[in-house]
Amino acid sequence: MRLVLFGPPMAGKGTQASMLAEKLCLLHIAMGDLLREAVAANTSLGRKAKKYMDEGALVPDAIVVGLVEGKLKTSNSEAGFILDGFPRTVGQAEQLEQFTEIDLVLSIDVPFDRLVGRSTGRRSCRKCGAVYHIDFKPPRKPDICDRCKGPLYRRDDDKESVVRERLRAYEAQTQPVINYYDLRGKLRFVDGDKSIDEVGRRLLEAIYDKWPEAEARVAKAEAAMKAGVEQKPPKKEAIPGIKTRRQQGRGRRGFPRDRKKKAGGQPQKKPRHRPKKKK
Ligand code: AMP
Repeated sequence: MRLVLFGPPMAGKGTQASMLAEKLCLLHIAMGDLLREAVAANTSLGRKAKKYMDEGALVPDAIVVGLVEGKLKTSNSEAGFILDGFPRTVGQAEQLEQFTEIDLVLSIDVPFDRLVGRSTGRRSCRKCGAVYHIDFKPPRKPDICDRCKGPLYRRDDDKESVVRERLRAYEAQTQPVINYYDLRGKLRFVDGDKSIDEVGRRLLEAIYDKWPEAEARVAKAEAAMKAGVEQKPPKKEAIPGIKTRRQQGRGRRGFPRDRKKKAGGQPQKKPRHRPKKKK
């Protein structure tokens, strides 16, 4: 199962790619993350990529294709993979074909006006960075952060003109790649103007159309996820009349709590008694 996922900024592409990867046991390759990792690790590719990323420009095809090829060779992608943020140019799509085939390309489709609406309603806290949305997640008091009572503001890159520019750039960049896959009969559009869960459901339906057997795999993964949550050990019930260690002021290993605090949160070991050497 070799997938590519497209989606404009704010369409929730990253969230959906992670969900699909988890439910279908696919390797998730997020190009932006891969590049940031290479930059952080200060590899020679990372150093080359950094200057383009700092300018917000596309990193040359040779670098990004090399990174994806390396990742596919060195990671477990037995069940398949999902590419997120790659390919972004026809050149990248052509080079990708040299070392692997793509089975299905999903494009999350959201009218740009809706995305502009999503971003212009976004508010961020100046003090703690918490994010709100005036329609979908409003703060309790207008323009005041629920968490730290800091003032809310609209980030520069959330302003309508900037968002429209980002969307225009996405369209100009991605349309040729979308056409490339459309001509090869691999493209499916999925309506992204819905809730996160609903978009996820529709993406999975598009996948089941191609691989009906994937439905059973997802059902198994969902059951395992659910069981994982349910199998958490239940919290210990308090026994009436019996004080817990915490209530007795003792830490987990039996050291008094104030002694733990003095040692900066770490239980202090008792000094070992060493007999003095005889002179
Ligand atoms: P993202 O996290 O997807 O917004 O990507 C962050 C930055 O990484 C972009 O602004 C580009 O500089 C670079 N980048 C990500 N994906 C690609 C790609 N497929 N081709 C070239 N550059 C990319």
